[in-house]
Amino acid sequence: MAAQNIAGRSAADDATRQKEFIWPCVGTYYEHPLVLERGEGMYVWDSSGTRYLDCFGGVLTTSVGHARPEVVQAIASQAGAIAHTSTLYINKPQLDLAEKVAAITPGRLKKSFLTNSGTEADETAMLLARIYTGNYEIIALRHAYHGRSMLAMAATGHAPWKHGPSGVAGIVHAHAPYCYRCPFNLEPQSCALECARDVEELIQTSTSGAVAAFIAEPIMGVGGFITPPRDYFKVVTEIVRRYGGIFICDEVQTAWGRTGEKWCGIEHWKVEPEVMTFAKGMANGSPIGCTTAVPEVADRYPSLTFSTFGGNPVTAAAALATIRVIEENDLPQNALHVGGYLRSRLDELKDKYQVIGDVRGMGLMQGIECVKDRKTKEPDPQAVLRVFDETRKRGVLIGKGGLYGNVIRLGPPLIAGRSDVDELVTALDGAFGAL
Ligand code: PMP
Repeated sequence: MAAQNIAGRSAADDATRQKEFIWPCVGTYYEHPLVLERGEGMYVWDSSGTRYLDCFGGVLTTSVGHARPEVVQAIASQAGAIAHTSTLYINKPQLDLAEKVAAITPGRLKKSFLTNSGTEADETAMLLARIYTGNYEIIALRHAYHGRSMLAMAATGHAPWKHGPSGVAGIVHAHAPYCYRCPFNLEPQSCALECARDVEELIQTSTSGAVAAFIAEPIMGVGGFITPPRDYFKVVTEIVRRYGGIFICDEVQTAWGRTGEKWCGIEHWKVEPEVMTFAKGMANGSPIGCTTAVPEVADRYPSLTFSTFGGNPVTAAAALATIRVIEENDLPQNALHVGGYLRSRLDELKDKYQVIGDVRGMGLMQGIECVKDRKTKEPDPQAVLRVFDETRKRGVLIGKGGLYGNVIRLGPPLIAGRSDVDELVTALDGAFGAL
């Protein structure tokens, strides 16, 4: 008999209703999609009561675990006090959150504008850069993902995520620091960071020579956890600043503590952005976007602007509680250690299975790129789909990404322990073994 959920409908019924009432562009994982109804800590349960270890956290968003009591409590008590103020009045949770963000972001980053999504955070950042510099042109990266508004989509560097007439003038895409598939066919040990240096020629040949911003993720999330070489950001930001631009660091996937040890991903590369954007894991699943800038840049945004739900007190309370949990439990350190253990176990899998071409990432943000042949590096998205089904059978949820859909993305909540890693790797081992 088909499994019934609480409302008495089977998962198959829900899949049919999804097709009928939700736009078909909203894709779901798995041929028979999962209906998730409950979560607790590292686990989620589907509508038939089956439990899964969640190793993707709703795309790196459930950062401190499902139904984390401190976050649930903060949401409930703020909703019971006042759930909405608009930005026309001072609301303390927003203020407290912005003050906290100033404390945990690097260097002189200080002033925040709160919105509802990563898209809005990036859109705000790019507009701010154009206003501040007086320049128009923006450099983004191939393989990047920045959102689904026209401007954020235009900055995105993946055809599958860019739809029809979404073009916005003034955005050019530089080569990604994608060492496994180096756009210059060079080796990381001896490449002299050609991908970063090429940005100068890009500016000279494809822009007016006056740049507003360079926007990039410290580790390219949707792109398949592409991790740049150590000095990439130092070289590229020096070039961009020479041509008048500022650096917008999109930390939507990499903050807070995800990459291990540090609060923000960019801190590993010792570069200070003028603007940073946050969303996803910031409020453990409540909708939030945050654009944080150094004062002289933030102050240039002219009056007036408004966001009905931006800085909403309930969401801000959820974000504050999330950040507090990360801080009090030193989850950046946990991500470093447990992420390091995960990486060593994935490297073992790479030794065992030829289909694994590359393992990369930092902290609890680790990717496995699957290829048909290690020499030709031909992408193998079918293998990823099969690993998806096999890990699901074994009670583990994983994510995927990459331009070719051939990268397994692992981004469990930051509370993950070594035993969770063991459970994940056992499932992956079984899944790769079953290919
Ligand atoms: N930037 C990055 C790096 C992202 O990964 C995403 C979402 N995948 C976004 C921006 C857009 O965020 P949202 O979906 O909240 O609009």
